[in-house]
Amino acid sequence: LMQLSVPLNFIGFVYREIRQAVVDIEQMFDLLDVPQEVQDRPGAKPLAVTEGVVRFEDVHFSYDANRRILRGISFEVPAGQTVAIVGPSGAGKSTISRLLFRFYDVGEGRVTIDGQDVREVTQESLRAAIGMVPQDTVLFNDTIAYNIRYGRTSASMDEIKEAADRAQIADFIARLPDGYNSMVGERGLKLSGGEKQRVAIARTILKAPPILILDEATSALDTQTEQSIQAALDVVSRGRTTIVIAHRLSTVINADQIIVLRDGLIAERGTHAELLALDGLYASMWMRQREASEAEERLRLARETD
Ligand code: ATP
Repeated sequence: LMQLSVPLNFIGFVYREIRQAVVDIEQMFDLLDVPQEVQDRPGAKPLAVTEGVVRFEDVHFSYDANRRILRGISFEVPAGQTVAIVGPSGAGKSTISRLLFRFYDVGEGRVTIDGQDVREVTQESLRAAIGMVPQDTVLFNDTIAYNIRYGRTSASMDEIKEAADRAQIADFIARLPDGYNSMVGERGLKLSGGEKQRVAIARTILKAPPILILDEATSALDTQTEQSIQAALDVVSRGRTTIVIAHRLSTVINADQIIVLRDGLIAERGTHAELLALDGLYASMWMRQREASEAEERLRLARETD
């Protein structure tokens, strides 16, 4: 018995060490992501999501005093609808998602969900209500099943498979040497940007949050990958209040409303058709991107026929 208890103790020790390391990493990320000034108000109540209406009311924001990033932004995302935010690089698109998550507090104005100011509710309840598909998903050094289950740790294997299927990543997983048990992450199989994003979508399908932020990857994807990601995004955003931070205009065509940011203000807003008819900033961005993606596609086809 003595002989056995030593290794068991040792395993316990190693387990605690590893767990502590994981906790430390989480705390480190917390420190990186959340500035110290953002804290729960004394007596903050949990957010009560009834419909999932998101509103930005005359929001002003700067990261530092001498540069204003948002200068009076107002818009509403009605329950279950999709609003896409577009605009030149650096216009403040991702900043909008950070304010909704309350990684930072607004300078002036307010951000509400179903009428509740995000500064008045607990951060834990706020983040539980919002699903985020980030530009660049970081995978854990673990199996692909673990990475998907992270969305809802109580999910069964069947639920994981269904989420993978709806996120259009199931066929890819089926071709891996160990299927759902394949190790991914830095020390395992390296996944492409599009594959990682679909893992993040599967995670979000499991989490099933009422509000969703999709931060699109800036990197160019081939048409087929782009189409399967788009199909996966359509599945996950159906019936949920969704904000898409869009870099590729092809993904915003079906949005209920498109908001065009420029220099911290809303320059234009409307549907795709309305904004094309307006023949302004959106229309010129659209033309430019169409030309660029057509040129890319021609290059790719030329390479394939070589
Ligand atoms: P892109 O399309 O390139 O991703 P974006 O429209 O999403 O750009 P944001 O990420 O919202 O732009 O950034 C808006 C501006 O705020 C940029 O000029 C950026 O340099 C600045 N900025 C972003 N994060 C910080 C930060 N943590 N501290 C200071 N300035 C920041």
